[in-house]
Amino acid sequence: MQRKQPGPAKPIASSTSCATNSQGIEELYTSIPCGSSSVSVYPSVQFLFSAAAASQFPPDTGAEVAICGRSNAGKSSAINAITGRRALARTSKTPGRTRLVNFFELTPGARLIDLPGYGYAAGPRVEIAGWAELIEGLGPRQSLRGLMLIVDSRRGILPGDEQLMEWAQGIDRPVHILFSKCDQLNRTESQRLLTKSKAALQGRGSAQLFSARTGVGLEQARGQLDAWLRSPAPT
Ligand code: GDP
Repeated sequence: MQRKQPGPAKPIASSTSCATNSQGIEELYTSIPCGSSSVSVYPSVQFLFSAAAASQFPPDTGAEVAICGRSNAGKSSAINAITGRRALARTSKTPGRTRLVNFFELTPGARLIDLPGYGYAAGPRVEIAGWAELIEGLGPRQSLRGLMLIVDSRRGILPGDEQLMEWAQGIDRPVHILFSKCDQLNRTESQRLLTKSKAALQGRGSAQLFSARTGVGLEQARGQLDAWLRSPAPT
């Protein structure tokens, strides 16, 4: 287990502007959505540690929500936007950490679990097996209240996402889909995606549009997260 020394939470950026890189291009990965409130709803949020195996997961107490999705779906950007921290989830991108489960503490006893992205089937078989083992390790946890599934709006629900939803159904946990990067769709496309997906979900989960860039759906996503974290443990 790689444990980070606990330290004081960094102050929240007071500016609402998006970060800009040296080319003047908006840096999405580390940004808080333009125009959104910069006041974090989780002022003491902090990275706890990364686990390489289920045996390293923290004690099964309190409440936690897992965030998952295909690689590049916008998971890190969603975590940063939801927590209102510019680079909280960046740790998952540092070399060697992409296959680890990252735990964040939102408030004492409330955690966000950043699962490794999936979808690159070309990866070594041992890695795929390791990924499945990590996910399976979450199954018995009473503290797991639900899964937020990040799905790229332009791609829609793909087989890997379907498998994850089936797994969640098997352990009786709710799934809420964030259709990420919805700023890339026009209104008609957005509506079509939502209608089609809700029909496909058939009550297996809920779904909403989300954009880490514009902040669309941000409050709804936070509302879902909070509702789950406040909900009682499954019986
Ligand atoms: P992860 O691999 O799932 O953690 O995905 P990232 O958060 O790193 O995002 C993958 C890519 O999608 C990056 O190039 C981001 O800039 C881009 N991206 C993430 N969120 C948004 C969004 O809301 N809108 C747009 N247009 N691009 C986004």
